[in-house]
Amino acid sequence: MKRILLLSTTTGYQLRSFGESADRLGIELTFATDRCQHLDDPWRDGAIPVRFFDPDGSLEAIRLANADRPFSGVLAVGDRPAVLAARAAKLLGLPGNPPAAAEATRNKKLMRQKFGEAGLAVPWFLELPAGDSLESILTRVRYPCVVKPLGLSGSRGVMRADNAGQLAHAVQRVRTLLGRPEIRAQRTGLEEQLLIEGFIDGEEYAVEAVMTRGELRVLAIFDKPDLLDGPFFEETIYVTPTDAPKEVQRAIAAELQGAASALGLVHGPIHAECRVGRRGVVMLEIAARPIGGLCSKVLRFAQGDDTVPFEDVLLRHCRGDDLSSYERARSASGVMMIPIPKRGIFKKMRGEEAARGVPNVEDLQITAKTDQLLEPLPEADGYLGFIFARARTTVEVTAALREAHRRLVFEIDPEIRVVGVGAASGD
Ligand code: ADP
Repeated sequence: MKRILLLSTTTGYQLRSFGESADRLGIELTFATDRCQHLDDPWRDGAIPVRFFDPDGSLEAIRLANADRPFSGVLAVGDRPAVLAARAAKLLGLPGNPPAAAEATRNKKLMRQKFGEAGLAVPWFLELPAGDSLESILTRVRYPCVVKPLGLSGSRGVMRADNAGQLAHAVQRVRTLLGRPEIRAQRTGLEEQLLIEGFIDGEEYAVEAVMTRGELRVLAIFDKPDLLDGPFFEETIYVTPTDAPKEVQRAIAAELQGAASALGLVHGPIHAECRVGRRGVVMLEIAARPIGGLCSKVLRFAQGDDTVPFEDVLLRHCRGDDLSSYERARSASGVMMIPIPKRGIFKKMRGEEAARGVPNVEDLQITAKTDQLLEPLPEADGYLGFIFARARTTVEVTAALREAHRRLVFEIDPEIRVVGVGAASGD
């Protein structure tokens, strides 16, 4: 029985789905998860404890587990696991990405540099190191531009600025975000640096692909029907198959192949975001991992008469199977990442039944917890939940997602700030 090592920062839905796929495929799955992040029991016994901020210690734990019973593949879910997975694959002599390539996907500046060196279209970009004043680079900035932290994800801290005043405000806001203890605790080494780059016009797409010994195969292109023009960039709806003309799809695939090669990625899943506008295809970023968490539910594949979840395809690729017999399932499908509308304490959601009753809605999952403090973008770290729909066409899918969302009511109480506790007064 083939044994696959799955590295992940979470223990949620996607891991259960991987577990079910592994059972179906006769694969033994061993999880390596960050023990700091454990809120629930690991899905199975025998998970390898790793710490993503301590790669050397984590690799040693993986080496020991491999010595016990060897792995035949390594797969990562999440950005930080992707770097450790690359190092583990190298250590164990398994197919994977070179560690430096996985590292480059985690650093937005390095990614821009590598794309530029390879002759790909890139916006102008400037780095603003921690402590440097904005004035030191201001004369080189043009507008509109985008400010972003180098090492966060999920559009966190990403802001558009149309003039110097907005830029100064955006820089201050990201720096305040980056100063938060929970972000500093991640110890990515990139906590304090900012990137300022040209705003790229165009329609935005997300791409799901796998690389096999350097060759890219696109599995799905997602349209993002909501306008993403700023000032913040909230992901909401992803629908697939794309409505983009065939030549645009080919251009996206070609640019992605070039961009992946520029970073040195050779083997494993890829999730990318790009824009297509007047300058053709511009890659925003590439991650050396599949689409995250619950969103993976949106992808299903057909093999003969069977329909299988995305996790089956990923595990089979990791095991070394040929994927040519898989096709994307014929129906259109989509997900809405339910945005956080305002800051406050999440109390409850109403309208679930009505939302589920919308034709073509397949599932609704609320991930926000009662009494949790919610923050909208650009500080947000997550969503209220996810709505899934499947239909004949993407127009029907998008309409179903919007209607289901319209039927939901979220009760969010104002945050009560305790003022003055512990503060000396009057003496
Ligand atoms: P993250 O890793 O946090 O998702 P990205 O760099 O992918 O960060 O940016 C998040 C979103 O912000 C993108 O999906 C896109 O909508 C928008 N965005 C980022 N950079 C630019 C840019 N240079 N021009 C236009 N939009 C951008």
